Amino acid sequence: MRIALFPGSFDPFTKGHEDIVLRASKIFDEVVIGIGKNSQKKRFFPLDFMVEKIEHTFAENPKVKIHTFQGLTAAFAQEIKAKFLLRGLRNTTDYEYENSIAQVNRNIFDGLETVLLITSPEYAYISSTIVRDIYRYGQTVDKYVPYLLPSFQEFQEKYAEL
Ligand code: ADP
Repeated sequence: MRIALFPGSFDPFTKGHEDIVLRASKIFDEVVIGIGKNSQKKRFFPLDFMVEKIEHTFAENPKVKIHTFQGLTAAFAQEIKAKFLLRGLRNTTDYEYENSIAQVNRNIFDGLETVLLITSPEYAYISSTIVRDIYRYGQTVDKYVPYLLPSFQEFQEKYAEL
């Protein structure tokens, strides 16, 4: 079984990410979206909140699974028997970064191949950072994420620690 791990922060998961997952699900038997938990970095969208949104997005797609993980991506890939790491490429900045982490990941877990899918042009400009910034200023982000988000005010009331 060809399992691909798509690791990331997904803070938030965007239509750009969704596009990569849908295209990869035509190549692999299973695509596991792995949300990395980083104790050094505080999330904007809480982990449970984002897991629920992603689960909802792929509810009808049995090939797509969602997990959270802590620690090394390569170690988690090994744990779930994923021989492929899936990443998206938008531009040369992504390429520089992906090139170096792909080498490191293959050194950690021999045989772990990174598969890079080139972004679809309509999503090339979407980044989680931009979506967060727009949302924070009270604008709708429906065009950029594949699920519904409450207004920023409602979101803040519910997640008071923000
Ligand atoms: P990380 O914090 O690991 O960079 P992200 O959640 O920002 O995680 O991104 C996960 C992966 O998705 C990365 O490979 C990134 O390049 C890719 N990606 C992000 N936005 C897009 C997009 N709009 N189109 C294609 N790939 C994307």
